Amino acid sequence: MSLTTLLPDLPGFCVEQVSRTEETITITARATALSASCPDCEHASSHVHSYYIHSPKALPTSGRQVCLLLQVRRFRCPNPRCRRKTFAERLSSLVAPHAQRTSWARELLRVIGEAVGGEGGARLSHRLAVPCSPDTLLRLVRQASLPSSSSVRVLGVDECAWRKGRSYGTILVDLEKHIPIDLLQDASAESFATWLQTHPSVEIISRDRGSTFADGAARGAPQALQIADRWHVLVRRIGACSISFGERGG
Ligand SMILES: [Zn+2]
Repeated sequence: MSLTTLLPDLPGFCVEQVSRTEETITITARATALSASCPDCEHASSHVHSYYIHSPKALPTSGRQVCLLLQVRRFRCPNPRCRRKTFAERLSSLVAPHAQRTSWARELLRVIGEAVGGEGGARLSHRLAVPCSPDTLLRLVRQASLPSSSSVRVLGVDECAWRKGRSYGTILVDLEKHIPIDLLQDASAESFATWLQTHPSVEIISRDRGSTFADGAARGAPQALQIADRWHVLVRRIGACSISFGERGG
């Protein structure tokens, strides 16, 4: 097995040098395509104008940070009618132009941010050798697009706190895929009903035992079957047991 198979996959690049320190692995690579297309007029060009180094961070290897030094070319556009005189070549799916991290590193950090939040995620990211600040982790989570909600069949609905005790919204979950699919700004029956009217695929709605979401569901999706979700049923039963024990004790 070649040692290069242990390096990150760099489509469209040729690795020229690998150096290692106690904490970091640095990989120097250059693009191999003979030409690139202008992003404005799509004319192909092989006329190199200049070079620059793009240095995004990649997924860690053997507990070390991995930094890429990518030699990227700027081409002259051959189309005299094009407003863009020069353009930088695209780096395929490896890394977006001027991004500080490769696509895979961004995805790993987004998953960490989703799982443990900003502060905890930042501490974990340092231990995993892909360091990131709490603010950046939260920004990556916010930038992630929500999954499609157009075909949801079994819907879970509940309040979510924008500011606990002060401001509440509504979270909507696809209970067959076990993923959140939308957030509503408030927790009113009107907003929920409006959302349901644009999602006629909903057949079953799992909700709390309050009247707000029941009212919204009845108005927005009268065809759907409403059921009380297990968590709220259990909370109600535990609450009832506590009250009856308290009454006996008194
Ligand atoms: Zn052009």
